[in-house]
Amino acid sequence: MDGCIFCGIASGAIPAKVLFQDDHVVAFHDIHPVAPVHVLVIPKRHVASLAEVSPDDREMLGHLMSAVRRVAVETGVAESGFRTVINTGEGAGQSVFHLHIHVLGGRTFPWPP
Ligand code: 5GP
Ligand code: ZN
Repeated sequence: MDGCIFCGIASGAIPAKVLFQDDHVVAFHDIHPVAPVHVLVIPKRHVASLAEVSPDDREMLGHLMSAVRRVAVETGVAESGFRTVINTGEGAGQSVFHLHIHVLGGRTFPWPP
């Protein structure tokens, strides 16, 4: 989508520290990390948020979750534990309106958040 930062990263037009990508997803390091490991997992296809997904997106959502596990393994936090966050809507802190999963690790995380 024109003007979308994460579509730009998915297409390669905007540089990012990419951990890996495949036909469906890209995993890249957050530009302002809030933990020693802070990676974002996005679908290559533009979807604004979790509030916008449809049943047709079930396969894409599965790819995202499977990529989260790969991020955890490749960054070495799969065993120590990691926090996944999806902010949906401005009220929840979403600032980039292209669906993304934060994968955070390398420190402890309070619960409730
Ligand atoms: P949100 O607040 O929407 O849940 O998360 C957006 C995240 O994207 C933030 O953590 C922010 O640091 C990150 N971000 C925003 N712009 C860029 C960018 O151009 N490159 C990268 N790598 N991360 C970005
Ligand atoms: Zn986009």
